[in-house]
Amino acid sequence: MCARGRDLLREYCAEHGLPYDEVGKLVVAVDGSERGRFDALERTARQNGVPGLRRLGGAEIADVEPHAVGVAALHSPRTAITDFVAVCVQLGRDVEAAGGQVRLGARVTGIARSHGRVVVTCADERHTVDRLVVCGGLQSDRLAGLVGGARCPVIVPFRGEYLTVRPVRRDLVRGMVYPVPDPRYPFLGVHFTRTVTGDLEVGPNAVLALDRGAYRRFAVSPRDTAAVLAWPGFWRMAARHWRTGAREVYGSAVTAAYLRAARRYVPEIGGDDVVRGRAGLRAQAVERDGSLGGRLRHRDVRRRHVPAERALARGDVEPRDRRARGRPCRRVNTGSARSGPARA
Ligand SMILES: Cc1cc2nc3c(=O)[nH]c(=O)nc-3n(C[C@H](O)[C@H](O)[C@H](O)COP(=O)(O)OP(=O)(O)OC[C@H]3O[C@@H](n4cnc5c(N)ncnc54)[C@H](O)[C@@H]3O)c2cc1C
Repeated sequence: MCARGRDLLREYCAEHGLPYDEVGKLVVAVDGSERGRFDALERTARQNGVPGLRRLGGAEIADVEPHAVGVAALHSPRTAITDFVAVCVQLGRDVEAAGGQVRLGARVTGIARSHGRVVVTCADERHTVDRLVVCGGLQSDRLAGLVGGARCPVIVPFRGEYLTVRPVRRDLVRGMVYPVPDPRYPFLGVHFTRTVTGDLEVGPNAVLALDRGAYRRFAVSPRDTAAVLAWPGFWRMAARHWRTGAREVYGSAVTAAYLRAARRYVPEIGGDDVVRGRAGLRAQAVERDGSLGGRLRHRDVRRRHVPAERALARGDVEPRDRRARGRPCRRVNTGSARSGPARA
């Protein structure tokens, strides 16, 4: 999907005159303990036809990124950056050109089924549609609840904070430098990213957020805080990953600690080279047993010998919950045998 998506996005950007800059990416292993994950990543990348992929030894890294260090790296020269705000604006224009409407600032407060159609309530408006695809991000669990979907996983919000490299030090990284991903965590770890405006960002970290709707630091919503604290999956996740969580909180408060992770890849970067940058909120689906995910896995679908689409249509999207510790997730149906969040 990633390789195909890249091709489609490149074509789309070219067609509409949107920025698309192939700055390239290095995924860097900094010690031998990462070897297994690094080799697996290379195998996957080759199987998926990542164009121009090269494996570099430690000494070759400097040819691509003169200030980066590591024991080995994967170089993907065609990895690109774009301006996603501009992409979304263009997608909105396409919808309108095709006769559709884009409604902004319209909060969905109700979703119901009626005579085989779906009625969406938005403040004082109602829209009846044939099909509804809900992409609610941080609110997706609540929207699933509106349509009678499963009560778990629950979204636990995480704040991701970036540091911005001062313009005079932007040459520390030419393209993008990433760590070898650790599949135990959904977060990639601190990385260096170039933007189409020429900025160089370091981050993000991942710190528990207590407000799903505010990008401000220290924002607290009593409703969102209560939802996190009342979810048993949160405490199970915290018990499992408290060391990582504590490290992230410390790094958020102390820039020097944050930079320690970045310096493993680019040792020259110092506290004077960065300023606090933007932040975002990430929707982390947390299961009742504290595991991270909430995704339908192919393995689970195969085991049941049903095509994925039928499994989704049945609302059968959380097979892991059956194996989870604690009570199984409660399902709420609206009465229709075909109801469920995935179908909506
Ligand atoms: C710091 C950070 C770094 C990230 N880095 C990467 C990365 O490198 N690569 C990557 O692939 N992903 C990355 N992500 C994740 C990526 O941004 C998200 O996975 C993606 O944006 C999710 O898209 P979405 O459409 O599901 O949700 P969102 O983009 O969150 O969109 C959900 C929309 O639904 C709207 N909404 C919610 N409730 C309602 C309601 N009741 N009525 C009407 N509208 C509603 C919201 O206002 C919002 O506009 C990053 C995220 C963060 C925070």
